[in-house]
This record gives sequence, structure tokens and C-alpha cells, in this order.
Amino acid sequence: MDERPRVLLLHTGGTLGMRRGADGSYAPAPGALAAELAALPELGRAPLPEIDLIELDELLDSSDMRPENWQCMADALAERLPHVAGAVVLHGTDTMAYSASALSFLLEGLDRPVVLTGSQIPLVEVRSDGRENLITSLLLACDPRLREVAVYMNGRLLRGNRSTKVSSFGFDAFDSPNLPPLAEVGVDVAWREELLRPAQPGPLRASRLRPVPVVALRLFPGITGATLRHVLREPVRGLVLETYGSGNAPSRDADLLSALAEASARGVVIVNVTQCLRGTVRMDAYAAGRGLLDAGVVSGGDMTAEAALAKLSVLLSLDLAPAAIAARMGEDLAGELSPEPAALANV
Ligand code: ASP
Repeated sequence: MDERPRVLLLHTGGTLGMRRGADGSYAPAPGALAAELAALPELGRAPLPEIDLIELDELLDSSDMRPENWQCMADALAERLPHVAGAVVLHGTDTMAYSASALSFLLEGLDRPVVLTGSQIPLVEVRSDGRENLITSLLLACDPRLREVAVYMNGRLLRGNRSTKVSSFGFDAFDSPNLPPLAEVGVDVAWREELLRPAQPGPLRASRLRPVPVVALRLFPGITGATLRHVLREPVRGLVLETYGSGNAPSRDADLLSALAEASARGVVIVNVTQCLRGTVRMDAYAAGRGLLDAGVVSGGDMTAEAALAKLSVLLSLDLAPAAIAARMGEDLAGELSPEPAALANV
């Protein structure tokens, strides 16, 4: 008789395992998940894997997640993954895209599945979307084709560092606007094998995050140089600047551009990502983007803001000069970035 594979189930918190408190709001409930899993007899049967359940010491609403928690998850995965076929990380949906991105950069030498999932309605509720998300994630986490960090929700498996939360209401809470799903799950699982990442050369290890201050800021009409200077004060070392369209910013405000230029001259790495859901940064496309190039801002291409922030945090933790970090921001490290589009044709 074939042995069932083992999968690590790392419970970090989030709606899936929450219970309603006395005030009617949902909150993490330590130990509750084990009882709910025990009430799902299908979890004990093939083709589902055997589950090694571990809970973080403190279960969190993912709004409370911090880089220390990314490290904690990465360490737990690096320690246990070599002994299992893969892992499912149960996580709140609010910051799942940040954690998935961070894990994709922190886990070096990854050669098996890490699937983050959660739900919009807790498992204890009758209409929960958690049961399907959990069961399918467990199956995907023992598929050797998947060798990367992914997010599974509502029938779609997305690359983790391409994912973003797009709905606080629908069960299809996530999308990966600049990359098609890695797999779509219906009656069968339809993989897009050409998109899947190869196994990374081992050994598997979690790199170290240092507490380096980074900031994310969304440009808005009326933002001033003074505001930017305030945001970019010491000890900030990195900024993810969410710009307009193809990477544009106000070009008639010299003080605003000077604030950026002063910070990058001081060694602050400033990364340009677009506020648009789809598309990439092309700072050479408009005069309104060129000003940023001249101010030393580097392109984040078609990265999500979540991936850019996590990548910058991980790179700033390495002992590298700002120019080297800026250069690596433009390299595809874990499938988070598409190749530069060809230069605009003259028509
Ligand atoms: N606030 C919850 C969390 O992110 C939402 C969810 O899990 O869907 O933990």
C-alpha cells in the first residue's frame, strides 16, 4: 500500500481559524484549528497527505504581521521542509501577499511547494470558503511540479510574489495581474507548466532579515517636497514609491524631485512601482518619468508594491552598497519581475 505523503501545516492565524468573540468580532483562537480539523474526516483519507500541524506561538490577524513574523515563518519552513513533501501556510488574507513575497526572497534553495492560503469566512461557519481552500492547498503542496512560494484561493494558484489582495468581499480575494495563474483548479488541475519555477540549488536555508527601516508611499496629487523629506528622514534606507501610470510623478515640482534626489544621494534606495494593477514602469516613456530617473530612482518594473517592499527589505538586510542593492532590485530573483519590454517602436 502506498504511503500518504506528509505536508507541514503551519498555522499563523487569519480568518480561517478564527472564532467570534464576545463583542461579535473575529479573532484568532489558539488550539481551535486542531479541533476543527479533527471534525473534517476527509482529512484522514488519501489522496490527502498526512498533516504535521504546527501553530506559531502567537496566532495573528495578518494585519499585525511584521518582518519578524516573516522571519519566524521562514525559519520554521527551512527547518521542517526537508522532512515533508511541501508546506501549507494558513495565513490571514490582509497581508498574505507581503508574507508570500517575503518568503519567496527569504527561502534560498527552495525545491518544493509552499502554499499560502486562508479564507474570507472562518472554518467554523457553515458558509466557510476555508474547507476547499485548505483541502486543495494540501493536495497542491504535495505536487512535485511546484517548487516555489504560491498563494491558493478559490480555484486559482498564483505565484506568491505576483499576488495582491483585490477583494475584501469575494472568495476570489487575490489576483496576480501581471502573471497568469500557475494553475486553475476545477474538475481537474490545469497547470501552466511553462510558468513554473525550477527547483533552486540547495541546501534550503532562510536568509536573515535585519530591522532596516523601509517605507512605502503612494503618490497623490498635491504631495509636496516637504512631505517627502519628512518621510525620507534618517534612519530610512529604502522607499517603495507608488507612482502614476507607467512610472510618472509630478515633473513641474522641482522641490519634490530635489527631495528624492537628496535622499538617493544619501544612499536611500528608491524603487518606482506603478499604482496601476497591470503594466510596468517605463521612466523613459514620459518627461514626467524622466525626472525620477534623474533623481536616482530605480525602476521596479512590473513588480507589485508588496513584492518590491519585501525584496527591498531582504536586500537591505545584506551587507551591500546602495548601488548594488539598486542593481539587484532590477534583477528577477524569484519570478517577481518580467523581462524589460522591448524599447518603444517609432511609429
Ligand atoms: N483580517 C484577517 C487577516 O488578515 C482577514 C482574513 O484572514 O481574511 O488576518
